[in-house]
Amino acid sequence: MRLLILGGTAQASALGEALARQPAIDATLSLAGRTQTPDASPLKTRSGGFGGAAGLAAYLTRQGVDAVIDATHPFAAQISAHAVAACTAARVPLAVFDRVAWTAVEGDSWTQVADMAGAAAALGNAPRRVFLTVGRLALGAFAVAPQHYYLIRTIDAADAAGQFAQHRIIRARGPFSLDGETALMRAERIDCVVTKNSGGAATAAKLAAARLLRLEVIMVERPPASGAERFYRLDAVLAWIARHGPAP
Ligand code: NAP
Repeated sequence: MRLLILGGTAQASALGEALARQPAIDATLSLAGRTQTPDASPLKTRSGGFGGAAGLAAYLTRQGVDAVIDATHPFAAQISAHAVAACTAARVPLAVFDRVAWTAVEGDSWTQVADMAGAAAALGNAPRRVFLTVGRLALGAFAVAPQHYYLIRTIDAADAAGQFAQHRIIRARGPFSLDGETALMRAERIDCVVTKNSGGAATAAKLAAARLLRLEVIMVERPPASGAERFYRLDAVLAWIARHGPAP
């Protein structure tokens, strides 16, 4: 069975580890090529865009792909839409390996916003000390609010950070611990955390730390999900893959 995994997430890595133990499945992991040092995968890996939905459909046909798993990030809406269009055009089954969105619990103080511009506006006019964990490509949206101090955490170096008068950059990749997040927010005297609602355990500790320290969280909610069949657990994705293999 030839499988294409659209990756760039911990979900895709976990799926890759599981499929590496299944020799009957010839799986390829596709990455956008944005991260300078992606996690190593035991699967064959390709990198870079396909050239839109039409390019992806052509790739599926050329490579004889039997099924596609969209294990991209919940905020990577474009590639997910392309996957739906390409799989429909090439008549290849598609499933999404998603992660459950975070929800506020007792003690949380969340301000939910629709996008990054909404998050920048929600910070308000008075100067604040902001922990900004939205990914380096979204930093530009906060240029309109230079009155705040930003503690910026990104995986790769963030060029756009130069636009902030008062900031500090930390380069780090999760998982992060509650103790580590709490200590960092205390040391930096953070009063607000800005994050995307990515979901997943690896980066959830910042929310628990914010709850503990009674800090506001500005939560950027997810863009609408693609209409493809959706799973949240690895075993469910593996079962779907088994159902969509060519008949023996
Ligand atoms: P996006 O806006 O949905 O995609 C932009 C373009 O990048 C797509 O049209 C496609 O180019 C290419 N692309 C995206 N994912 C690809 C993949 N897995 N393999 C091959 N090409 C891909 O995506 P994004 O938000 O820029 O995210 C890029 C990648 O980073 C995604 O794979 C995602 O899983 C990962 N990621 C994103 C976030 C986030 O917050 N957005 C966070 C963590 C990881 P073509 O049209 O040329 O095919």
